[in-house]
Amino acid sequence: MKIFSRSYPLDSSYSLVMPNNYIVGMDTEPNDVITNKIAAARKNIQIISQEILRREKRYCVNEGTLAGLKSRVANLGFNKFARSAKPFFAQEQCNGCGLCVAHCPASAISLQDGKPLWNVQCYQCMCCINTCPQQAIQYGKSTAERRRYMLSEYLPPDERA
Ligand code: SF4
Ligand code: SF4
Repeated sequence: MKIFSRSYPLDSSYSLVMPNNYIVGMDTEPNDVITNKIAAARKNIQIISQEILRREKRYCVNEGTLAGLKSRVANLGFNKFARSAKPFFAQEQCNGCGLCVAHCPASAISLQDGKPLWNVQCYQCMCCINTCPQQAIQYGKSTAERRRYMLSEYLPPDERA
């Protein structure tokens, strides 16, 4: 956020720690860990919204270790070598519903003959693979045995989208 704010000056910056959804790298966390992270994030959002309403200037970003190095060197390496949509594919249970296309924030998926195709502009946000109602999407061989994470499954029924 410090690097970002050099180009786009910000009054405040916040981060929220959310459950792992990057199932290409590792499986989802146990349910109790997911539930606790979401509960903490919901509490923090309340605090953040009050601070914003009071127009307080805050920097509350969980940078982790070696943040500068990760944001520069590791990020460059990730974008060059790991951020690929090529390993995505849809299994036969895909019914062509098109939800992956509609949900993709990068407009990186199109349907061809009723099946999704992935294009290079994928951000690797993991929305498509986690939210496919048929659990039809895989990423190479790494995701076949892994669970999917959907925030809505951990919200009270009246808050699910
Ligand atoms: S969301 Fe799943 S079932 Fe629907 S088109 Fe995409 S891959 Fe197929
Ligand atoms: S991982 Fe995210 S950005 Fe990439 S294709 Fe799927 S939904 Fe789109």
